Formats: sequence, structure tokens, C-alpha cells
Amino acid sequence: MKTPNGYEIIQLFEQFAPKHLAMEGDKIGLQIGTLNKPIRRIMITLDVLEHVVDEAIAHGIDLIIAHHPPIFRPLKHIVTDQPYGRMIEKCIKHNIAIYAAHTNLDIAKGGVNDWLAEALQLQNVDVLVPTYEEPLKKLVVYVPRTHADAVRKAMGDAGAGHIGNYSHCTFNSEGIGMFLPEEGANPFIGQQGKLETVEEVRIETIVPSRLQRKVIRAMLQAHPYEEVAYDVYPLDNKGMTYGLGRIGTLSEEMTLQQFAEHVKTSLHVPAVRVVGELASRVRKVAVIGGDGNKYIHEAKMSGADVYVTGDLYYHVAHDALMLGLNVVDPGHHVEKVMKEGVANVLKTMCAQQKFDVDIYVSKTHTEPFTFI
Ligand SMILES: [Zn+2]
Repeated sequence: MKTPNGYEIIQLFEQFAPKHLAMEGDKIGLQIGTLNKPIRRIMITLDVLEHVVDEAIAHGIDLIIAHHPPIFRPLKHIVTDQPYGRMIEKCIKHNIAIYAAHTNLDIAKGGVNDWLAEALQLQNVDVLVPTYEEPLKKLVVYVPRTHADAVRKAMGDAGAGHIGNYSHCTFNSEGIGMFLPEEGANPFIGQQGKLETVEEVRIETIVPSRLQRKVIRAMLQAHPYEEVAYDVYPLDNKGMTYGLGRIGTLSEEMTLQQFAEHVKTSLHVPAVRVVGELASRVRKVAVIGGDGNKYIHEAKMSGADVYVTGDLYYHVAHDALMLGLNVVDPGHHVEKVMKEGVANVLKTMCAQQKFDVDIYVSKTHTEPFTFI
């Protein structure tokens, strides 16, 4: 077991919620303090308020991972006898770093919107508003026949050759490789100064850009040659689609009223606001955590019977009524699912890396509203 530093933790975390997935202009990443220090205790929180920082101080926290960036609007001043400035002052005095994962965590596979879809027990879940399609590469490598199996396996195990529900996909054609080892070479087959021919296999496979380096490293390790001949081609076809919100179906149809009750119990909220005819039947559900006002048209276009999102404005509720789209608003605070969600992801990742780090879920209640 080793104590990681902040960079190691964040590098790991960003494999799950990469920064490039964030919406343009979002304020994500390290916001306060430094990552250049050992990290023994991490706290996960939805919001960073002064009493959340007090909780972090009481628990000896080195790093806070928050969903809502505490520095979102441009800072005009840091006045330390006001709550906001005091919050920043406390972090700096107590050497607590704050890192924000916002829309990148909403969009990430298995992130906030998937946790919400899971809590609502949606099935056949898909992306609601696509924001990014993963670029793909074609990797071609020439391998002596004796080592083709090992190289195929190494590349497949590293993530190459994923098409739909199939893994380790390759195309293989046989041919003759020729080479002349020159002075200074240490050939696996043949000898210096003699033209050599070898029965080789040309292995073609598809690789998501983000895994390109990992797959090539694995391929080179399994390949017997001193110098490996391989080509990487950019492709026009795209890989996985990422995006905001999710759409899925309930296991059985229910009335809007029953669904509203289902949202209350499954997202643990005392009340919801409902737009639409309570007796109407719903089965297909769109969900966006936080404020999804901007996306009611996408929700309607997706064929959803009901749209679950927070912070619904009066006029947007009118628009939804006119569109014939039911809406259930459980509030913005349902994004609290990210606390346990991120903690579980990080615990698994840190255990794999043998990082000696304690991950603590904030117990501070940050729902600003009381329902009476
Ligand atoms: Zn939010």
C-alpha cells in the first residue's frame, strides 16, 4: 500500500470522468489548493459550502471532490469576513484542495445521470442529448504466425476490437514478411546481412483513441520483434456516444401520479412538482440531473412520456404543457446520488492501485429548501 499524491488520484478519477467530456465553459478541475501533496483522506460532496468545509476540517480531509464547482461565477474579491471568502480562506489555511467534476461527471458513462436512471429503475437506458462521439483508429500490425495468438490476445485484453457486444474482434490475412537485418541489429529471426522471409499475419483491429497508447504498448510487449511494423489509421466512423441525460423505460406502464410517487421514493425526496395530466399513462422516461430546462424539446423529441429534471421554470413548465410533455421536478438536490457513486468508483480504483487512502462521503445536508 502506498500513499498517493493528488495528481495520481485525479489521473485515476479522470479515467472515469475525463475533462474533455465537460460542456464548453464549465468550470471544472482543481479550483483551490494544490494536488502536489500526499492525499490520505478524500471527501465527496455535492456542494461546497462553509459548513461542508468545516466538516472536512473536522475529518482531516486533504482533498474534496465536489460536483458543483464552488468557483463558478468570476471572483471579484475574497473577503474573509464574508462566508464565501471565509470558505476559501479555511481551505487554504487547512491545506484542503478542492477539485470539481461537473458536466463531465454528468456525461460520464456510469456517472450522475446513469445513477439517477438506475435509481428510477429504468431499463434499456440510452443517452438523451448526445454531446460527444468517440474517435476510432484502425491498428494494423504484422506478426510472425507463431506469435499471432499472443498479440491478438494482448491487444484485445487492452481494449482493442470492441464492436457492439463483441470484444477481441480482428481481421487476419496471411502473407510473407521480408527484411534484411543490418549492422547493429539483433534479430529475433534471421541473421545480419541476410535477406529473410517469414510467414506473417496482418492483424487489423479497431481501437478507441483514448486506448490507443495502451493497446500499442500491450501489442509491442507481446510482439517478438526488435522493430515492429505497425500502422495507425484515423477513421471516419465513430465509437461510443456520450451525452447529457438518459432515456429509458419503466418495467411497466403507470399513471403520471404513480410515477411521481415512484420518483419521490426512489430519489428520496419529500415532494415533487408535476406538470401534466395526473391520469395520463407513462412508460418512457427521460432524466437529466440538476437543471434540465434547456432540454425539454430534446426530451419531447426522444419520445419520452415524462421528463424528470430539476429547477423547472414557470415559463418552461408552460412550454412543456403546450408540447404535451409531462414533467416531474424532484429538485436539483437529487444529484446527491453522486456522493455514494463517486465514492464507490474511487474506492474500487484506489484498491486496484493499492493506494492507502480513506474515502469519506460528506454527511452535511446541502438541500437549501425545506418542504412543508
Ligand atoms: Zn447540478
